[in-house]
Amino acid sequence: MTRPKNAMEIFNLLDKSNCRECGEKTCLAFAGAVFQGRRSLDECPKLDADTVQRYSGKGKAENPADAEREAYLQKLKEEAKRLDFAEAAERTGGQVQNGRLTVKILGKDFSIDKNGKLIADIHVNPWVAAPFLSYVLYGKGIPPTGNWVPFRELSGGKERDPLFQKRCEEPMKQLADSSTDFFDDIIHMFSGKQVAEQFESDVSVVLHPLPKVPIMICYWKPEDGLESSLNLFFDETADDNLDIGSVFSLGAGLSMMFTKLAHRHGFVDAAS
Ligand code: SF4
Repeated sequence: MTRPKNAMEIFNLLDKSNCRECGEKTCLAFAGAVFQGRRSLDECPKLDADTVQRYSGKGKAENPADAEREAYLQKLKEEAKRLDFAEAAERTGGQVQNGRLTVKILGKDFSIDKNGKLIADIHVNPWVAAPFLSYVLYGKGIPPTGNWVPFRELSGGKERDPLFQKRCEEPMKQLADSSTDFFDDIIHMFSGKQVAEQFESDVSVVLHPLPKVPIMICYWKPEDGLESSLNLFFDETADDNLDIGSVFSLGAGLSMMFTKLAHRHGFVDAAS
């Protein structure tokens, strides 16, 4: 691990956009806070995992599951180096620019270059990196039909559904229960779209974690002694465009990210 000698050295690692996603007003303020030990480097979502690991020691694979995930990610990156970017862009709804293949993830650019390096406007972590790579490498690129199905109805979804409810739908429901702004905030921050209520829900919002893998979140408010509920729905083509493990990762990852943002700043503050 390389220990930065002063705040300027940390500042030089940052992208200097002053985007405030870390909760500090400027990159310089964040660098100072990291140097003083009040903040940690991995709280800047713009930094790639390698830099965080090199300068803070965080992010290293610490257990066999992490090591396995990291090995899988490396394998996908190696395969991506041999990918025909033009063909993949056409198939996946992405584009090729400056030698990079870019697709929109939640409205933000996420790219890979010919060296297998991931470049993104959002935090690159395994829940988003592996599905992105799997999508561009193996996705069939079938256009969504608009027929929404629950996770358990996707191929291979039934066995994982109890865990999907626990990791994804339950934490998201708690957020929706506790914040009246939850849906407005995710629409604002992640280029979501409110659509006509589906399945008699009170709110239905569609997000695009990948261009051809939309997710619809439906929420039913508590009523007449009945508890509220929240479910995620996927286009029926989701399992053609992405393996089921990656679909799971996207749902669970979204839930984790919303929870983290809500706890850290409240959604509205984080977006400002
Ligand atoms: S999130 Fe990173 S890039 Fe954005 S202001 Fe904070 S330190 Fe700078």
